[in-house]
Amino acid sequence: MTVPLFDPTTPLEPLRERLEEALLDVLDDGRFILGPNVEAFERELASFLGARHAIGVANGTEALTIALRALGVGPGDEVVVPSFTFYASAEAIPPTGATPVFCDVDPQTFLATPETVRAVLTPRTKAVIAVHLFGNVAPVPEIAALGVPVVEDAAQAAGSIGPDGRPGALGALATFSFYPSKNLGALGDGGAITTSDDELADRVRMLRFHGSRDKVTYTEVGYNSRLDELQAAALRVMLPELEHWAAHRHLAGAWYEEAGLAELCDLPVPTPASAPAWHLYVARCDRSDELIAGLQARGIGARAYYRTPVHRQPAMARWGAGARLPGTEEAAARHLALPISAAIGWEQVVEVVGAARAVLRP
Ligand SMILES: *Cc1c(COP(=O)(O)O)cnc(C)c1O
Repeated sequence: MTVPLFDPTTPLEPLRERLEEALLDVLDDGRFILGPNVEAFERELASFLGARHAIGVANGTEALTIALRALGVGPGDEVVVPSFTFYASAEAIPPTGATPVFCDVDPQTFLATPETVRAVLTPRTKAVIAVHLFGNVAPVPEIAALGVPVVEDAAQAAGSIGPDGRPGALGALATFSFYPSKNLGALGDGGAITTSDDELADRVRMLRFHGSRDKVTYTEVGYNSRLDELQAAALRVMLPELEHWAAHRHLAGAWYEEAGLAELCDLPVPTPASAPAWHLYVARCDRSDELIAGLQARGIGARAYYRTPVHRQPAMARWGAGARLPGTEEAAARHLALPISAAIGWEQVVEVVGAARAVLRP
């Protein structure tokens, strides 16, 4: 049995007719940018997350840049971001004119903590990006208690839930990506920014439309960054499924445990009182490259996502050169992603664990 690393298409099969209908409705309606589906999706997403506002944008990377700009981040400011994350979390900072400052992560949860953030705060720190990596819920209120506004990068955490609510409703602002492989994936690129602050929401709406509120006066240099109507229509069909997709991702994590994965490698560690909708199911193992190669040879999807952490990427050399981040280095060296999706079955999980055992304990 082959088991793919992720499977974005099987969960969509039962929705096919409704998706076709929704897309054809947009075609008939003829409003393709900032129309009724975007408005309705923004309301529905905000309500699902427990935030006052959601604002659709073009993708998760621009969502971060615009969220930072809404907070007033600009030249001369510093923005703290973990180095163990997808590159875009940090890439979104320099376009604001601010400097990325890399913080460490707890190598067990893969997340920034109040301690790792505090270690790099300076009087110039204007914002912290807390990444809910792999769907695990970052301690946003505890980080915000350090006195700097937090932007949640919730690109990988749609559907997760933590002790203080859902990612997307925990920081000053939060950002989502609807890249097709994410927990809530569109049929192309898309993103959103959420906030419960009316003024920040107004600034985000202004920035996503060329820095204008009325299409006549342009008050700031902004962006052309919008979620389009076709994507919003598709996302509206999918959003009601997110809760049970998320529950399945969480359950699959429990299956890995039940199937005995802990005898072979270190399991993902959810933060206290959280139920992560695992976007990626990322274990840790000293022999992770060997395990990845062995699993792939047996038809099982497995890979390391972030072997080279962001602060050591060539484009970040200017800002990352001096950073000493032992938790990040450990996570980068030991992590490996195993198959997970909203459609993965118990037999597939058993197959993965059996293959891992064959590789590590032949
Ligand atoms: C996917 C992702 C992004 C970027 O989203 P795009 O829609 O691809 O621009 C940002 N941060 C994290 C953690 C992501 O996983």
